[in-house]
Amino acid sequence: MDINKVLDNLRKNNMNAVFAENRDCARELVKEMLFEDASITTGGSVTLDQCGITKMIREDRYRLVERGDKAAMFSADFILSGTNAITEDGKLYNVDGYSNRVACICHGPKKVIIVAGVNKIVKDIQQAVLRVKHIAAPKNCIRLSRNTPCARTGKCISDDINKTCNTADMICCNYVISAKQREQGRITVIIVNEELGY
Ligand code: SF4
Repeated sequence: MDINKVLDNLRKNNMNAVFAENRDCARELVKEMLFEDASITTGGSVTLDQCGITKMIREDRYRLVERGDKAAMFSADFILSGTNAITEDGKLYNVDGYSNRVACICHGPKKVIIVAGVNKIVKDIQQAVLRVKHIAAPKNCIRLSRNTPCARTGKCISDDINKTCNTADMICCNYVISAKQREQGRITVIIVNEELGY
């Protein structure tokens, strides 16, 4: 896998794309993009936690927007998030339950900052679907104590994107592919040269 090619393809899709050697560099890059008194919402992310970004944005110099405040979320200066997968041709793939994260990635906050380890890079959308069904969703269901088949068995009931477990606790409710963006540079993707998150 050629990371430079992935970065270039993200840029072709009108996203800013930056490489960070490690999680500390990623945190510094995020810090440089934020400004004093910025309002910030997050999608809730193991990657952001591991990079120390969740802790950093709780500092007094920023205004953290709680996820329940929908109006404030959609008018925030930034959303910070991980991603479930990045395809080699420069697309983001995300699957959500409550869907505040995918909603704000699509529309609302002025800037979107995505932080992702190299483990999130996959060949194509089909592999992104499998990545969610085999890795991201089962691990997140365990983390969030969801009563789903994947939390018990370690993978989805099916590899078919059209088939879900159809349970009350299911977290695979909205599937979003972020391809070429209309607004140049609204989304910035920081790819970190480490394995991070799910
Ligand atoms: S559809 Fe259900 S079983 Fe499949 S990955 Fe999502 S939550 Fe898990």
